[in-house]
Amino acid sequence: MIYDGKGGEPFKGDIGLNADTIAFIGDLSGASAKKEIDAKGNAVSPGFIDTHSHHAGNLFKHRDFIAAVSQGITTIIIGQDGGSYFPLAKFYKELADTPVAVNIASYSGHNTLRDSVLGKDFKRFATQQEIDKMKILLQQDMEAGALGLSTGLEYDPGIYSNNDEVLQLAKVVAPFGGRYISHIRSEDRYFWKAIDEIITIGKEAKIPVQVSHIKLAMHNIWGKADSLLALFEAARKNGIDVTADIYPYAFWNSTIKVLFPDRNFNDEKEAELILKEITLPQDIILGSYEVKPEYAGKSLAEIATLENKAPARMLVELIARIDEWEKKNDRECQENIMATSMSEADIKKLMQWPHTNICSDGSSAGTHPRGYGAFTRVFGNYVRKEKALSIEQAIYKMTGLSAQQIGVQKRGLIKTGYYADIVIFNTETVSDEATVAEPHRLSEGIETVLVNGTIVFENKKTTELYPGKIISVNKKINYSLCVAHHYYLH
Ligand SMILES: [Zn+2]
Repeated sequence: MIYDGKGGEPFKGDIGLNADTIAFIGDLSGASAKKEIDAKGNAVSPGFIDTHSHHAGNLFKHRDFIAAVSQGITTIIIGQDGGSYFPLAKFYKELADTPVAVNIASYSGHNTLRDSVLGKDFKRFATQQEIDKMKILLQQDMEAGALGLSTGLEYDPGIYSNNDEVLQLAKVVAPFGGRYISHIRSEDRYFWKAIDEIITIGKEAKIPVQVSHIKLAMHNIWGKADSLLALFEAARKNGIDVTADIYPYAFWNSTIKVLFPDRNFNDEKEAELILKEITLPQDIILGSYEVKPEYAGKSLAEIATLENKAPARMLVELIARIDEWEKKNDRECQENIMATSMSEADIKKLMQWPHTNICSDGSSAGTHPRGYGAFTRVFGNYVRKEKALSIEQAIYKMTGLSAQQIGVQKRGLIKTGYYADIVIFNTETVSDEATVAEPHRLSEGIETVLVNGTIVFENKKTTELYPGKIISVNKKINYSLCVAHHYYLH
């Protein structure tokens, strides 16, 4: 059954591939090919496009991208949350020389640009001169083929920027046909202001804007999905192309410091509010904690009991110990938390919005199960169990819609002339197996995955083939030519 990625009914048929391209769709009985795959009984769909991925950390050490391909992902969009490889031209040269299993496109990250201009002196607004420097760097990334600008305004150093800095930068990408994607300034306390900021950027910079991993992550905004979507719809009616992506979990994964947007880490009253309104002590799990590695896997409630302290006091101390550790070791301390902050009812409503596509926000070595199970979990949990989406809709939100919302050409559909990124999977069994306890367990039901016409995953194993391409929005640069001829652009 072919699901073509447009969201309509599936149909029976054959697909003929020629090299990296879909050459024919229809009846091929009687024809023969160098290689034939019998997909009988399974679904055949476009490869999934992950519009918010962190899978490319340390990518040359895991070129097979098993975390991504084992859940059907064939294209990843990186440079998220304001952090990107820099300069992008250099990264793309390396990637052209040492390709990987999946296709990669990247945004240029605001935090990365800000860091290279402001360095350690970042806890302030940037001067106009500094903004101008960032603009030049951003322009160079756009010339190298970036999709647009990404921000992570809840993180250092972007959290110290003002609206004007971000807007000025967003305007730089417009002439390139670029876009704006954002981990918005707040997903909890200052949520509505953050939504207003991204809509304003879409309006003023006149570019498509996408809210990354959309969520309502504070108890007092739970149940407000309808109001949020009404705001988006009103903006769309006014010509602002606002969209969103979402991952299928009620708990997030980030640095512990993200809990304190005002950076008042010593404030126990603030910690009490956080543990009441944003996430409960038993719902914060330490993913890693280099200060005391044995705390990984434990909840804040458990650690507080172990140390015989009130949870709010414990939270403040855990952060203080990170700062101490960093001073002593003169480098960044590895730490992350997983925290439950979202309601299932909101997740479903946000996922069902016609302009929301699926993403993982996952990484290959991460502690959150989304790194291995996000896409398959949508099928197992939100299609089959919860019936929040039909299978056609879910596939559309992983393929055709994603390509459209992120500006990727010739991918995301089963269509002649499109690249042969294809997933063959069992719609009855496809589901995630990764959990917090075992975040790297492979999904069920993904049978065969092709990237640009080459099989990268079958029989639950990667094939160690690396057909992935660089996806650039700058039409003047053809990185696949760079691979073929081994010449590089300067
Ligand atoms: Zn993020």
